[in-house]
Amino acid sequence: MLRVQKYGGSSVASADHIKRVALRVAKEREAGDDLVVVVSAMGQTTNQLIDLSRSISHNPAPREMDLLLSTGELVSGALLAMALRDLGHGAVSLSGFQAGIRTDTDFSRARITQIEPKRLQDEIGRGNIVIVAGFQGTTDDFEVTTLGRGGSDTTAVALAAELRAPVCEIYTDVDGIYTADPRIVPDARRLIDINYDEMLEMASEGARVMHNRAVELGWVYDVPILVASSLLDDSGGTRIHGGELMENRNKVRGIAHDAGIARVTLLGVPDRPGIAAQVFSPLADAGISVDIIVQNAGQHGLSDLSFTVTRDDLPETLERTREIQAELGAADVTADDHLAKVSIVGAGLTNSPGYAGAMFRALRDANVNIEMITTAEISLTCVVHQDHVEDAVRALHRAFSLETPDDIPL
Ligand code: ADP
Ligand code: ASP
Ligand code: MG
Repeated sequence: MLRVQKYGGSSVASADHIKRVALRVAKEREAGDDLVVVVSAMGQTTNQLIDLSRSISHNPAPREMDLLLSTGELVSGALLAMALRDLGHGAVSLSGFQAGIRTDTDFSRARITQIEPKRLQDEIGRGNIVIVAGFQGTTDDFEVTTLGRGGSDTTAVALAAELRAPVCEIYTDVDGIYTADPRIVPDARRLIDINYDEMLEMASEGARVMHNRAVELGWVYDVPILVASSLLDDSGGTRIHGGELMENRNKVRGIAHDAGIARVTLLGVPDRPGIAAQVFSPLADAGISVDIIVQNAGQHGLSDLSFTVTRDDLPETLERTREIQAELGAADVTADDHLAKVSIVGAGLTNSPGYAGAMFRALRDANVNIEMITTAEISLTCVVHQDHVEDAVRALHRAFSLETPDDIPL
């Protein structure tokens, strides 16, 4: 059987960790499986490379940034291949380019457009364990791109889809998907399984345990994803899939949060048709993804327009928004970069208005002020001050009784 596995940064954080992963992989190889193993950069390498670039330049060229960040995964991949060879196994590490991973040209957030699997298949055919550097690919012009933070998950699911692996195995520092980040909620509960739509919503709203594009790819290509611990041998884990759930209850499935949100407000915008397009098209063209948008009722033909972006995107967003302000003759641009968002997620939320009231009451009782609110089909999100987000997550986890598998009456 062909197995596609991915080991995250904390699982390959040191030489000892890499040797431990090699032992695991070797054992599976000895059991007779073919293996394609995707790796992340060691530990905090990607963050360190980002810090290093900032100590050199405030405005690095996107292509240089991606080339720099892609090196982290090359290091862990080559080291893992060496460790496997020392254990007596044929192993070869490949860069994204060598593995045939092609992407579009959006540096730092590229999407995989195609995988040319010949080299991978040849190496598997030769009996090699194939190690692939996660998080990277190349454009048609041979520029190296990266897939966005956490993007090694996406490399793994894309390879599992292309190579028709029955499941994509994601090994990390937690033993599955929990009802909330277990680092924040001590009594968070591991889910046995979760559907693609709910997991995509959790990931998109900030649950960094899975990259949202990875879940989306799994859904589109119908690749079940197993999230499990790289340390425990038989941790059970959580299965992400599209079928019936073991826990098929009409309730909130989990709480997601994202502590890195910024809000930009354009004040005194002329209140006339076409303004939203004039504001948001240039931001989209710059590759900035705008999340929540709120327009306040206008007075004297003017209104205020607020929207959120990730904190990392704030400097560029402000630059562009000031240009837009000048074009529109808007009064001012303000920003708040100390915000976070917290979401309740679950298929049971569809057409069930009771959840909103329960969420707002829980936040009120925890003394958390709500700055913005937005609803989607299977989630409800509130923007709060970053200092309150962990309290908010815990309060919501308690309010929806997520520590127990039982349904709660609404
Ligand atoms: P890796 O380096 O293996 O890719 P990540 O740090 O990206 O690992 O993701 C694992 C982390 O995700 C966990 O340590 C945990 O703190 C966090 N996390 C956030 N939300 C959840 C959740 N709902 N369930 C499990 N882990 C979560
Ligand atoms: N190394 C990259 C990051 O830290 C990709 C990944 O770990 O998935 O975001
Ligand atoms: Mg990750």
